[in-house]
Amino acid sequence: MRPVKNTDADIKKLVASVKDFQNNDNSTLKFITLGDMVMSIDEFRVRFKNAPESKAYTGDKKWDEVIEDGRIKIQINVDEPSFGQFQDYTNELLDKVMKDYKEKTAIDFVKCGSGRQPSCGSGSHKTWMVLSAKPSNGLTGCSSYVGRWGDTTWRGTGAQGISLGKGCLYMHTMIHEIMHALGWTHEQNRPDRDDFVTIIWDNISPQMKSNFNAEKGGKVFGTKYDPMSVMQYSSSAFSTNGRATIVAKRGTVAIPTDAVYWSDKHINKGMTDDDAFEINNVYTLAEWCKDNGEEWVYGNKEACDGSGNCIKKGGRVENGSTCKSKGNRWREDLTTESVREATRTAGRTERPSTEARTTEARTTEETRTRSKDEDKGKDYAKGAGKIIQFIIKIIEIFLGDGSK
Ligand SMILES: [Zn+2]
Repeated sequence: MRPVKNTDADIKKLVASVKDFQNNDNSTLKFITLGDMVMSIDEFRVRFKNAPESKAYTGDKKWDEVIEDGRIKIQINVDEPSFGQFQDYTNELLDKVMKDYKEKTAIDFVKCGSGRQPSCGSGSHKTWMVLSAKPSNGLTGCSSYVGRWGDTTWRGTGAQGISLGKGCLYMHTMIHEIMHALGWTHEQNRPDRDDFVTIIWDNISPQMKSNFNAEKGGKVFGTKYDPMSVMQYSSSAFSTNGRATIVAKRGTVAIPTDAVYWSDKHINKGMTDDDAFEINNVYTLAEWCKDNGEEWVYGNKEACDGSGNCIKKGGRVENGSTCKSKGNRWREDLTTESVREATRTAGRTERPSTEARTTEARTTEETRTRSKDEDKGKDYAKGAGKIIQFIIKIIEIFLGDGSK
């Protein structure tokens, strides 16, 4: 992802690389690059050109072929040599990312060949994700195909590369790129985004404008626009002049500034309750649990139809089955403070300083303590939010950041 740090040159490189790759490929499918997302042109037409609600987020590109013990098992692998000196770091980061997915959704990523885990593609597993700094499927930088494509035959099976190049080894970036592979686009692509944010087209570099289109065929499952989503860019992403490209409308929640976006807390907070909620609407085990005489912890209806009405939000199942009678731990008591503490701990881990984050970023972030997770769905834009925004503005002016 790296929306802010990516330059036009980086994006041009990705576009050229994917094009070049397609030209050397016998596949009849052709892809389009939108920022860090690569999707088929056919799917692009369905998602971005059709009427709202015309197609589910993931369509037929879900990763749900292996369901065991009340979990959707997805194999994942790290292309270790490609990460060089950062291979241990990448593995540790992936552990945190896997934990986040496991706690908040039914998805249980398993590292192929790790411990007693089967090797990639064994058993019922036909498709797996491979995190690589040098993927072989035309991707570069931080980027991912949208949905389950499998290997480069695009038939939905085999190893699907996800690119995490230089500067991509952050928890929220890894969650973000994996969420693309699971089928999601960006928060600012939501079909209803114009109700919440204004896109400042004049400030967006020409190369990146297509990345800010609204996904007319996208589903939002009854959620409100979520500025703290892992799928949300910062407010000045892909700016051609340093000024804002996405601005929250009056009365809605502010979009994270570059400083907030790259703060330790934001990088390490994991997916929001709404991110997890959306995943649980698509990657649901309501029927599976019912077939096994149990109830799915995230939803109590026989089947979830994507309306968002049958899914519970904000809980955690740290381990075990997500069907109720299998000794799982449904933790609605995981308080804001414990989430915050977990975030702090995660933030302490040393990571490669591929990008220097400024003192300004930290100072501003400490002033600003909002997070959708902490909020449990309350709209904090009103009152306190505005005051905080005002304080941030003062700090930014003081620090000479005239872009906001
Ligand atoms: Zn992205």
